[in-house]
Amino acid sequence: ARKRDGKNGASVYDDAISDRTRQRAEIEKDISEALENSWFEAHFQPIVDVETQETRGYEALMRLRHGKKGLLAPANFIAVAEETGTIGLIGNQILDDALKNLASISKLPGMQNAYVAVNFSPLQFEPGLPIRIASQASRFGIRPSQLVVEITEAVLLHDNPEVRKILDQIHEFGCRIALDDFGTGYSSLSYLSRVPVDIIKIDQSFVRSIGTDQAIVAQKNRMLMESINAIAHKMNCTVIAEGVETTEQFKLLQSLGVDCAQGYLFSKPRFVPDLIREMTTSRKPAEIRIA
Ligand code: C2E
Ligand code: MG
Ligand code: MG
Ligand code: MG
Repeated sequence: ARKRDGKNGASVYDDAISDRTRQRAEIEKDISEALENSWFEAHFQPIVDVETQETRGYEALMRLRHGKKGLLAPANFIAVAEETGTIGLIGNQILDDALKNLASISKLPGMQNAYVAVNFSPLQFEPGLPIRIASQASRFGIRPSQLVVEITEAVLLHDNPEVRKILDQIHEFGCRIALDDFGTGYSSLSYLSRVPVDIIKIDQSFVRSIGTDQAIVAQKNRMLMESINAIAHKMNCTVIAEGVETTEQFKLLQSLGVDCAQGYLFSKPRFVPDLIREMTTSRKPAEIRIA
């Protein structure tokens, strides 16, 4: 197709396309360079018990530490990695880094039961995954109960029996399965009967409206969170609320009986050596308490 009304005929439109092509080629180059040089890192964000405010575990969030561009968040490259299939290789590096980092944290006093929650893309659910998880966990001395596999609805979308079998195997091995971004997307509830879900993560969008001037939206979201919490607990699932940024939001989650909270109120995702250095010196994140 050509843009007809531009001064230069087709060139405006074609330039836009070639800009995008160039951009995409650059991302692909960044990814392959990052894979070669092990530039992918799992940064850790604490998941905090709402009652005691102790850190129960961490979510591993992927970062690409680019040699020239600095630290890149997944929004910059994950879609391309999923389209080109490199997400499988990246996912392997992230799993290894997450387990390795958790092993270091586990050695700290009181942290021997900490877990790490790793995000998995649909493409990673191939038959070799359960064995890979088992062998890497044992390589780093991590018990199955210390690994949570985070999936989104995208993993379950086509109700693929192959994928369900893989999830069952991972669950049987002793890892927990978390359903991420719960409450967004299409038909989240039916998955709860078909997949061995242990943890439900309430999507950030519900929490975000609390304390804003959109009082009606906030009130409706509060009721939705209350209902999600009730359903999850009926299904024997643990509930984690994501994106908690304010004390007001945290207090509301406390009053709703949500189990755990995660968000900037406690900590941004951190480079794990920095996190460990802080934990072994003075200010543990868990010591920042909300009355
Ligand atoms: P997610 O799994 O839902 O992760 C939560 C996202 O919210 C993270 O963004 C996190 O940094 C951000 N976040 C945490 N607390 C707050 C808060 O209080 N306020 C706000 N505004 N944001 C908060 P991030 O790290 O940019 O990751 C974005 C998404 O990329 C993740 O969403 C996940 O879907 C995907 N992702 C991240 N790491 C991996 C990975 O290793 N593998 C795969 N397949 N996907 C990943
Ligand atoms: Mg997640
Ligand atoms: Mg999420
Ligand atoms: Mg997400």
